Amino acid sequence: MSYSTTNPFTGEVVKTFPDATDDEVRAAIAKAHETFLAWKQTGFGQRAAILQKAADLLRAESEALSAILTLEMGKLTAEAKAEVELSAQILEYYVRNAEALLAPEELPVLDPAEGRAKVVHEPLGVLLAVEPWNFPYYQIARILAPQLSAGNTMLLKHASNVPQSAAAFEDLMKRAGLPDGAFKNLYATRSQIELILNDPRVQGVALTGSEGAGASVASIAGKALKKSTLELGGNDAFVVLKDADMKKTVDWAVFGRHWNGGQVCVSSKRMIIVDEVYDAFLESYTKGVAALKAGDPSDPETTLAPLSSQQAADDIKAMIRKAVEHGATATEVGPAVPNRGAFVQPTILTNVGEDNPARYWEFFGPVSMLFRAKDEDDAVRIANDTPFGLGGSVFTADAKHGEEVAHRISTGMIFVNHPTMVKADLPFGGIRRSGYGRELIGLGLKEFVNHKLVDVVDIDAEF
Ligand code: NAP
Repeated sequence: MSYSTTNPFTGEVVKTFPDATDDEVRAAIAKAHETFLAWKQTGFGQRAAILQKAADLLRAESEALSAILTLEMGKLTAEAKAEVELSAQILEYYVRNAEALLAPEELPVLDPAEGRAKVVHEPLGVLLAVEPWNFPYYQIARILAPQLSAGNTMLLKHASNVPQSAAAFEDLMKRAGLPDGAFKNLYATRSQIELILNDPRVQGVALTGSEGAGASVASIAGKALKKSTLELGGNDAFVVLKDADMKKTVDWAVFGRHWNGGQVCVSSKRMIIVDEVYDAFLESYTKGVAALKAGDPSDPETTLAPLSSQQAADDIKAMIRKAVEHGATATEVGPAVPNRGAFVQPTILTNVGEDNPARYWEFFGPVSMLFRAKDEDDAVRIANDTPFGLGGSVFTADAKHGEEVAHRISTGMIFVNHPTMVKADLPFGGIRRSGYGRELIGLGLKEFVNHKLVDVVDIDAEF
């Protein structure tokens, strides 16, 4: 695990970065703790001014910042700019709302002898964020904005293939006026994650990534008796009912599966279509996927990005082969993708039987699994037949009925007539193997605070 920028479109290793030393990590923890002691005393206004300045810088420097995403993980330029804007919106969400969301809550006690009781939300201290490469800035903003707003400080271990994105965000926060030590990017090794979590000054960890990383980091946190939140993988169902508007549904399906090169935890990975409209959906969807244009991610004409690395592309191809060995049919779609760069030919998997383990895998790339459901009940059954529970969607002309079906699907987030949305003002998170805890809005803001009871009891009250 060494930190380097490798352009996934050209394969060129652009720059490598040395791992942090243990001494650097220890110094970063000490500084983050020292800064916490002062930061927790700052007012919401002061914190908000810094976050607003960071949002302004993100927008002002969108061109240069988005180019780093395209260079390091192959994100399409338009999507990279949208990510920069979304990150700015997250910062601004907390500028506007943090103080009200963290306001003390008076408790309606039954007996006056219990005193005037309230719950206040106090910051915990230094936190660690372990983040993935697929949304290098958004992932930082999603955890950093609420935690700084709450008064915590943060150490970051970002994915090893996006070191320049991590450094750019750190630099931006510094220029926005964030005190030294409030947010520190570390090119940390795995053993240093343990070192960090075992330090008594560190209070918890938020990880976004794969199940393996989540299990490993959460067990280290558990042994150290530290809180963790996990945002892990997903296998979102995209349920199509018989009355769905086919054109709109197919357009959203193509987008929902292929944006960000298909590398989104909430990509629409399993299309579950009721029998009556399955054939029509398959035909239109295949045409829609075939119309995607793979190529240079910085070319505005490109609509299908390379994967983040050659290794990621090789892994997906191996998963497709295994799915086929277990009985699935793999249909490659569209014109051949470029043979240079980390591309995977868009592939539709059908006949993925109940005994095919691939049914339960997360394909992190342009691979769609299509399932024919006997009827609506069967579609709900298939949607719920997954170890994950992150996002999902239901498509129908009857929004009210769509909502009823949505309630039957067991997942963390569900949308009627839209693939799972990623927004600054909607919560994000899942259940089962998709993790635990929530990020964004007030839920994310309160994951790492001490919900402290302060009770003023009238000393003159009689015993
Ligand atoms: P990953 O390999 O788990 O990497 C994520 C982060 O964890 C990276 O910083 C990585 O560092 C670190 N890491 C990996 N293994 C580790 C271990 N054993 N111990 C400590 N740290 C470890 O994830 P990925 O494959 O890059 O990202 C894709 C996954 O993330 C998918 O499953 C996707 O669904 C999920 N994801 C979830 C969400 C969500 O909000 N639920 C959002 C985005 C992505 P190195 O890079 O140095 O290995």
